[in-house]
Amino acid sequence: MNAFYLKAIGLDQGVLRSLEWLEGELAGDEDLIERFHFAREAIDTEALLWTHAPKDIDSFEGRLAEAALRSLFDPLVDFESGFLSPMNDLEAEAVKHNAKSSGRKITAGELDREQRERHRQRHFTPPFGWSEIEAVLADLRDAPDGHPKPGEILRCLQCFQPMEWIWFRSSAATSQMLCGREGWTPICRACRTWRACRIGILS
Ligand SMILES: [Zn+2]
Repeated sequence: MNAFYLKAIGLDQGVLRSLEWLEGELAGDEDLIERFHFAREAIDTEALLWTHAPKDIDSFEGRLAEAALRSLFDPLVDFESGFLSPMNDLEAEAVKHNAKSSGRKITAGELDREQRERHRQRHFTPPFGWSEIEAVLADLRDAPDGHPKPGEILRCLQCFQPMEWIWFRSSAATSQMLCGREGWTPICRACRTWRACRIGILS
């Protein structure tokens, strides 16, 4: 059973920092965790209840955590959300693995770091390289009908300037291999960075 996961990355007095939330468990620096609890307490839960109309208490906790996390940074430069395995499951998985294997023992903490890293990679890619972005920039086409440019302004994780949205379409070779991708991708030309939060499978 997967648990709801949130990660906020933002600027805190000019420094890039992050805080993660997994079904009530926080991972990050202690001062940020403390500020999260204050922010969480300060949220008007009545107002949030009416705004989001959550179906169950878990998702309501998720909405509260989301609001608190977003309020910690100025500006917020990224927000990941999704589902991860909770620690209890990872502990059971580690015990099972260690009982079968005579090699190095693994810990639930390692499994947790790995799953968070996999989630981060899925969140930011594809595209997998700046050369793919350059190929698209050389032949920039309009997005197909029904795909308006996202209104959200994302910031570059290196220079923190607002990013530019481009309609990304992976190469013909990737479509032939049935792993083509297309969608709105935010890029920063100055830093040659990109993020792929709106990429869908090419039909
Ligand atoms: Zn940049």
